[in-house]
Amino acid sequence: MDAHSPTTPAYEQLALYIDGEFIEAAGRRGQDVVNPATGVAFARLPHATTEDLDRALAAASKAFQGWRFSSPLERSKILRRVAELIRERAPAIARNITLDQGKPLAEALQEVTTCAEHAEWHAEECRRIYGRVIPPRAEAVRQLVIREPVGVCAAFTPWNFPFNQALRKAVAALGAGCTLVLKGPEDSPSAVVALARIFHDAGLPAGCFNVVWGVPAEISRHLIASPIVRKISFTGSTAVGKSLAALAGAQMKRMTLELGGHSPVLVFEDAEVEAAARFLARTKTRNAGQVCMAPSRFFVHEKAYDRFIDAFAGIYAGLTVGDGLAQDTQMGPLAHLRRVDAMESLVADARARGAAVLCGGERLASGGYFFPPTIVTGMPDDARLMTEEPFGPVVPVTRFRSTEEALARANALPYGLASYVFTNSLATAHHVSNRLEAGMVSINHFGLALAETPLGGVKESGMGSEGGTETFDGYLATKFVSQSTL
Ligand code: NAD
Repeated sequence: MDAHSPTTPAYEQLALYIDGEFIEAAGRRGQDVVNPATGVAFARLPHATTEDLDRALAAASKAFQGWRFSSPLERSKILRRVAELIRERAPAIARNITLDQGKPLAEALQEVTTCAEHAEWHAEECRRIYGRVIPPRAEAVRQLVIREPVGVCAAFTPWNFPFNQALRKAVAALGAGCTLVLKGPEDSPSAVVALARIFHDAGLPAGCFNVVWGVPAEISRHLIASPIVRKISFTGSTAVGKSLAALAGAQMKRMTLELGGHSPVLVFEDAEVEAAARFLARTKTRNAGQVCMAPSRFFVHEKAYDRFIDAFAGIYAGLTVGDGLAQDTQMGPLAHLRRVDAMESLVADARARGAAVLCGGERLASGGYFFPPTIVTGMPDDARLMTEEPFGPVVPVTRFRSTEEALARANALPYGLASYVFTNSLATAHHVSNRLEAGMVSINHFGLALAETPLGGVKESGMGSEGGTETFDGYLATKFVSQSTL
């Protein structure tokens, strides 16, 4: 079977999902879906009309009246079934992600199967959404703290992990007893439709989960303005996050925002330098660097710098770039042309400021959206590459002399998502992890984004956490009930 054929039977039948019904184009406007490995459009995504959006909101509102009082055991059972269906369908879902998003098949498969763990974690934790009893001041009084679902949520999920990001928002909202309308990533839509089919087949009541597509700014404006929506959840860039936060803030709606980062990596003199370089070369090319928590600003101690660069460039420059469906591909294309243009512009700015490009640096001549692993050195800290999230395979590497200098430079940006430290000194690890302004610190390995651990940022990288025991916090309101027998 030709994986890129427009008639391939394996690609998802794209649709809206409203009130338990899959709705195909039927005269609606829409947009092409393009394979980033070829630049060729091979499917068509229907857009929601304003009536579709209102129907989805009404369905979520109606469903909430039942779902909010559903037993946690029932929610748990459905989420467990979701996990089973994810594992069963993972090969087909993964293949479609590679087709419309570009990442190598093995990475797509890992993205999907990991989501079964997220669904199971939420199935377990939703049975433990406890309130508490506060000792009263008089015997006749009973004081209860109850945690209630906040209501209908609007979720906006990105294209870099199209299955994972949608699944995580959905299971957190549904596990808490909320219902939701989700706008997925139009560039890479198959995973979200596959997720809707999984919820449908797992027995989730109609209206609890709805999927809409369209022009992002139009959809978010309409959904957030609706009085039905009580909370928004968004993963994407800081710029868009701020504009959605302003819309939500105007009506005092709750929000969980997982936004951009520019994660510093501190490699100390006493680290296992070659091992760190090997690890970073592979971690940085995962999803072609289009990962919000990707290691992305490298600060290497001057005494370890040459060893690090040799080891890092030795691997990074030689990685095989190609179609994610090809067996030997180690890094796929970027997800769309916007990212290729962004890479070129960041490299050009660094060059203009005196930087050296050790490998890569130019888009690859082909029909697809390929940009090679690129290492840039010798740029000043105010070069765009050091201040703007690259979201791609371009890595700036710089030297530092002292721990305090490295910390000051690492903390200098308004971002605060992930950070990475490589050292064999417990004292350095302790000191630095206390002082890094980041929502996550990973020391000597990549230990982030597990189902049981919280993921979230500080500063302009967002607010709230996904995963861990914190996962339901953003979807629950605290109600205090005081009752007396008199
Ligand atoms: P973008 O900022 O235009 O879009 C980012 C995401 O937000 C996309 O999924 C898009 O559909 C959505 N979006 C955009 N405008 C929206 C709106 N008004 N309402 C609702 N959703 C909206 O940029 P892009 O070119 O698609 O991606 C590049 C940048 O996005 C990267 O530099 C990175 O900072 C950020 N990004 C971050 C993540 C993450 O995991 N935090 C994921 C994807 C993209």
